[in-house]
Amino acid sequence: MKFEPVIGLEIHAQLKTRTKIFCGCSTEFGAPPNTHTCPVCLGMPGVLPVLNKKVVDFTLRMALAVDCDIKRYSRFARKNYFYPDLPKGYQISQYELPVAVNGHIIIEVNQKKMRIGITRIHMEEDAGKLTHDPARPVSMVDFNRTGVPLIEIVSEPDLRSPAEAGVYLRHLRSIVRCLEICDGNMEQGSFRCDANISLRPEGTENFGTRAELKNLNSFKHVEKALRYEINRQKDILTDNGSIVQETRLWDPVKNRTFSMRGKEDAHDYRYFPDPDLLPIVIDDPWVMTVKSNLPELPEAKKDRFVQTYELPVEEAGYLAADRDLSDYFEACVKLFPKPRMVCHWMMGPLLGMLKSHGKNIAETPVSHQDVAELLNLVDQKVISQKIAKIVFEEMALTGKPANTIIKEKGLVQIQDTTTLETIIKKVLSENKREVEDYLNGKTKLIGFFVGQIMTRTKGRADPRLVNKILKNIIDINKNNK
Ligand code: ADP
Ligand code: MG
Ligand code: ZN
Repeated sequence: MKFEPVIGLEIHAQLKTRTKIFCGCSTEFGAPPNTHTCPVCLGMPGVLPVLNKKVVDFTLRMALAVDCDIKRYSRFARKNYFYPDLPKGYQISQYELPVAVNGHIIIEVNQKKMRIGITRIHMEEDAGKLTHDPARPVSMVDFNRTGVPLIEIVSEPDLRSPAEAGVYLRHLRSIVRCLEICDGNMEQGSFRCDANISLRPEGTENFGTRAELKNLNSFKHVEKALRYEINRQKDILTDNGSIVQETRLWDPVKNRTFSMRGKEDAHDYRYFPDPDLLPIVIDDPWVMTVKSNLPELPEAKKDRFVQTYELPVEEAGYLAADRDLSDYFEACVKLFPKPRMVCHWMMGPLLGMLKSHGKNIAETPVSHQDVAELLNLVDQKVISQKIAKIVFEEMALTGKPANTIIKEKGLVQIQDTTTLETIIKKVLSENKREVEDYLNGKTKLIGFFVGQIMTRTKGRADPRLVNKILKNIIDINKNNK
């Protein structure tokens, strides 16, 4: 029997507010343990939480970006459980009245557009972080993260393959980054995902029993864990077994999922409205203000890049998915208005250089002005494409502008016909046998001659010009023969 996977994702995105959701402590990542804490986020008795309005603003941005209905009246609830990273013994979250419901995004997989429903988005606070000492039976807790604001984005079970889940996840990440509400860093845990997956016989309607996969801190892990889980569940179902509804963890070392807790031990969270916080009332003007300040979203930007700049869809999508990349692109095009050439240069040498330097576009050592200047020099035929790549590498290493490097290294392209003729004649006279072979029909040797000339000129000859002159000279030889 053939099975179809059914997948739904729960995504947690840490909001980039300056301070925590219910107190004034800093949200900065990487501070020494327990330095960003106060009685409120440590859950001391007698303290009262005060909602950070920015958190609601950011949540509204996201909710509107994915076409959710905004609930004009919502409230916080206490989710009760005991764990050492949760000092209050409950997490403030939203439950029966979340702030946003019923949204969706459109994703494109294998040229097919799909609508993925978003069930709800709610606000909550993050828990602390436990570190387990491998050498001693000791665990340490850092409360810097308690009270950092999160939104949870719950999808409908609309995804049908690990690849689709990957595309959906990347798409949401590009939206939160575009909205500048979350840095989307999966390794640092500011963008996390739990994946729910079940199988059903192909062609049937009813959903099967699902497993929930946690601990997925990279795109690769999400897709790998889902693929593993499909095979695991398929084997069980083929053997007429039944799937246990449970939470499973991904082990990236052993490349497998394993059971963390079954449904029997699933938490009874005893949710109830938080009596310390007022309900959240959102009026139309607030929604309108947030809506009118939304930036252009990746999908719209991609379409615009295709239309205005005539970029290939794939490249347009890649650039548009990242705000820093697309800003860089557009700034560069303003100075050097040949968009396809800019795009080509960014997708190739620029991204290659960043990768090898282990940097992202925001940290690029070569500014968009520098790239525009370099491309201009190529366009004016001052240097060739090939030389431009060498110059570019030097720019990345030294931070010097293209012009300076070209002057220092004498890399200006040889445009002068007389100079080229002299070099070409020299090469031909040093390779008499090859010239003979060429004249006898081995026309492929033209590449050999061009190669020799390029070596002789250290790549500074204009290949098109070389080809032209070379053919002329050889033809004269032929006629004289
Ligand atoms: P819980 O708190 O129990 O995890 P949520 O409603 O927060 O419940 O999340 C459930 C997630 O699981 C949603 O993303 C939903 O799309 C997905 N889901 C629900 N049922 C199934 C199923 N049978 N197979 C796969 N995914 C499912
Ligand atoms: Mg869940
Ligand atoms: Zn605090």
